[in-house]
Amino acid sequence: MANIRILITFSLILIFWSFHLVAVSQPVLSAEQNIFDIFSEVFNLIFLLGMLAFNISLAKKSYETSESKWFFVGLLLLLCGHTHDLLDEFISIQPLIISFVFENAANNLGVIVLTYALFKWSIRYKSQIKTLQEQKVILTSVSNKDPMTQLYNRRFLNDGFKKQLDEVDFSQQNLTLVMIDLDKFKSFNDSYGHLHGDKLIQHAAKIISEQIREQDFAFRYGGEEFLVVIEGDHGTAKKVATRILNTYRNSPFSVNDERIEKTLSIGIKQLGCKLSFEESLNDADEALYAAKQTGRNCVIVAHHESELKNHSSNVNPLRAEVLPS
Ligand code: GH3
Ligand code: MG
Ligand code: MG
Repeated sequence: MANIRILITFSLILIFWSFHLVAVSQPVLSAEQNIFDIFSEVFNLIFLLGMLAFNISLAKKSYETSESKWFFVGLLLLLCGHTHDLLDEFISIQPLIISFVFENAANNLGVIVLTYALFKWSIRYKSQIKTLQEQKVILTSVSNKDPMTQLYNRRFLNDGFKKQLDEVDFSQQNLTLVMIDLDKFKSFNDSYGHLHGDKLIQHAAKIISEQIREQDFAFRYGGEEFLVVIEGDHGTAKKVATRILNTYRNSPFSVNDERIEKTLSIGIKQLGCKLSFEESLNDADEALYAAKQTGRNCVIVAHHESELKNHSSNVNPLRAEVLPS
């Protein structure tokens, strides 16, 4: 509404001033000579009126910002300047101070105001983009992490991480899956309660993240189950897994001053080009299952495809290696 009031005020000033000029001035003898100027000024005026209409319609739709107000003022000033320019194609305007204001000051001031509005808008736009990027980083990191353990969650594994794996050339880079599951966790929960169960999961997650390197990824795969993706072959992964297993078993964890005996089991499978990620994950899971069957508290490594080349086809690829724990 404020915009429309200013527009009406400017238009009235323009109309009265134009009548005044027409009354006090002599007509230009041959307006036809200025036909191109007339066309160009009429075009400018139509363009400015269109811009003003757009500006007002945006303001009506609650898109008004301080920059769009400055734009409005800048466009009005240009409207004054160009209307005056159009008039002087028909009448010889007296060199009055007010003519000077309309003809020169309005046009130049209009350009300055529009430039200022654009400058202000670009600064705001830039800072908004920066804020949005920062928020995106925070939101992505929050949505990728499991709130209880701060490890990566299953969603990130499925949505982001697997896509990154598609880019990996396994003849150049070794990656190994390490599946970890806490032993007899259900009975711990039953004996000490869910709250202490949560604390034990957090305790295990902390040990896992402390024992891996920066380039490795640790996920909370399920309740008390973790997946670590190690940059390295199954030999390297076995060392990391053994470290995790021993550190967890020997770490102090007490409930009501009672020190808890606890263990975990681990299944390992190196990724390769012959098997899909899901197939390798399945092998790691079967190795973990084998570790449970072997008596828990141990690491089982499923054979890697390169080790199977020379074996006859009836060799079980999941024939596992049991590490002394
Ligand atoms: P195993 O040695 O064979 O792995 O035995 P387990 O008891 O650890 O295995 P099972 O899968 O039977 O039990 C897992 C339990 O973990 C069952 C479920 O109630 C519990 N659990 C899953 N998520 C959470 C959680 O976020 N917090 C707590 N406290 N318990 C959980
Ligand atoms: Mg378990
Ligand atoms: Mg489990």
